[in-house]
Amino acid sequence: MADHPVSVFNELGFRYDPADLFQQVITLVLRAADMLELPRHLQLILAQPKNELMVHFPVKMDNGDYRLFKGYRVQHNNILGPYKGGMRFHPSVSLDHVKALAVLMTMKASLVRLPYGGAKGGVQVDPKALSRDEMMRLTRRFTSALGENIGPDHDIPAPDVGTNSDIMGWMADTYINFTPQSRRWTGQAVVTGKPLEFGGSHGREKATGQGLVFVLDELLPELGVDIREMSYSLIGYGNVASWTARLLDERGAKLKAVMDHSGAIHCDKGMDAVALAAHVAHHGGVADFPGAEALEEEQFYSLPVDVFIPAALEQMIDEPKASLINARVVAEGANAPTTPQGERRLVERGVKILPAVLCNSGGVTVSYFEWQQNRLAETWDAEKVDAALRKHIFAAAQRTKLMAHRFDCDLRTAAYLAALENVGKVYRVRGIFP
Ligand code: GLU
Repeated sequence: MADHPVSVFNELGFRYDPADLFQQVITLVLRAADMLELPRHLQLILAQPKNELMVHFPVKMDNGDYRLFKGYRVQHNNILGPYKGGMRFHPSVSLDHVKALAVLMTMKASLVRLPYGGAKGGVQVDPKALSRDEMMRLTRRFTSALGENIGPDHDIPAPDVGTNSDIMGWMADTYINFTPQSRRWTGQAVVTGKPLEFGGSHGREKATGQGLVFVLDELLPELGVDIREMSYSLIGYGNVASWTARLLDERGAKLKAVMDHSGAIHCDKGMDAVALAAHVAHHGGVADFPGAEALEEEQFYSLPVDVFIPAALEQMIDEPKASLINARVVAEGANAPTTPQGERRLVERGVKILPAVLCNSGGVTVSYFEWQQNRLAETWDAEKVDAALRKHIFAAAQRTKLMAHRFDCDLRTAAYLAALENVGKVYRVRGIFP
C-alpha cells in the first residue's frame, strides 16, 4: 500500500505526500510496475503525464458580467491509442486530481484492452450555480480554448462528474465549427457521451452502472454473495449510482441506504431506484425521500449490508470511515474513493475491495463503442451494446483474477498488473522514438 515512494520517485525528485492524490495513485501503479519488472525507463515515462494543459477563459454571465474560469486537460499516456477520458465540472477540480484521474484512465483503457490512452480534464466551476445558457457558453469557450489539443484521432473527451450529454453535444458542435469543412462529419467522434440524436450511443448513459453490475455478476458468487438477495448501500445518487441502483433493482438486490450532499437516508425493506431518481431530479438530493428515514453519517457507514458502493467523489473512505463500514464487499463505482489508510483498514477487517479501474470501466468501454459507431457511420441497438459491454467487462474481470492468482495480490494491484503488462508489451514492440 502507498506508504512510501517507489524508486523512480526519488529519481524524479518527488517528495512523497500521501494527501496528494496523484502521488497516491502513481505510487500504487509504479509498485505494480516493479512487481512486473517493467524497465526503469517505462516507469519513468508512466510516472508523469505527457502533457498538462491549463487554460483560463472568460464567460459572459446572464447578468452581463464576465467571469474568468480555469480549465484543465491532462494527457497521461497514448501508447495504446488516442487519449481518452472525461471532463469534470466541479469546484474541487485541481491539477493534482486531474493528473491522478488521467493515470487511472490509462489503466482502465488498458485493462479493458481498448485502443486508447488515458486523459482527464475539467473546469473549476459549480455547475449548479450556472444557468443552462451560461453552461453552454462556458462549454463552448472551454472547447475553443482547448483547440487542437483535442480531436477524434488525438484526444476524445467524455462526460464525468458535473457534465452530461448536453455538454458533450456542445463540445462536439463547437469543435466541428472550427474544423475544416471536409473533416466535419468525422469531427463528431471528437467527444463521446453525446445525445442520441447527435451521434450518441444506446446504453452510454447507463454504461458505468451497467459495467459495475456486470463486475458484480462475475465476482460476487466466489465471494459468497448472491446478487439476487444482497443488500447494499450507495454513496452518491448521480449517473453511476442511480443506474447501478436501477439495474440492481432488476436483479432483486435491496438498496438499504444512500448518502449524498443532502444527507443520508435508510429504508430496511429497500428503496425503489426509479422513484428515488425522480425524487433527486426534482429536489436535488436524496434527503426527504418518502418512506425513508434520515440517518447520521456515522450510522450510514456502520449500517450492515452485503455490499457497500461508493459512487461519488474521490477519497470518501478514509481510515475512520473504513473502521465503520459493515459490509463484506466494497465495490468502487467512483474513481479512487478509498484512501490508502482506508484501504489498509478495510483489508485488516477482511472486507474485499473490487477496484475502481475494473468496476467503473463500463463508461469508457461504451464510449469506445460510440466512437466506433461514429467512425463507421453505424447505429448499434441496445442489445448489441449490452452484449459487447458484458464481453469486455467479463474479460477484464478474468484478467484481474488471473493476475491476483499469479502474483498472490489484492485485486487493485492485479488490475494494475493486467493493465501494465499490456502497456509494457506495446512499448516493447514500438520502442522509444527516435
Ligand atoms: N468519465 C468516465 C470515466 O472516468 C468515462 C470516460 C470516457 O468515457 O472516456 O471513466
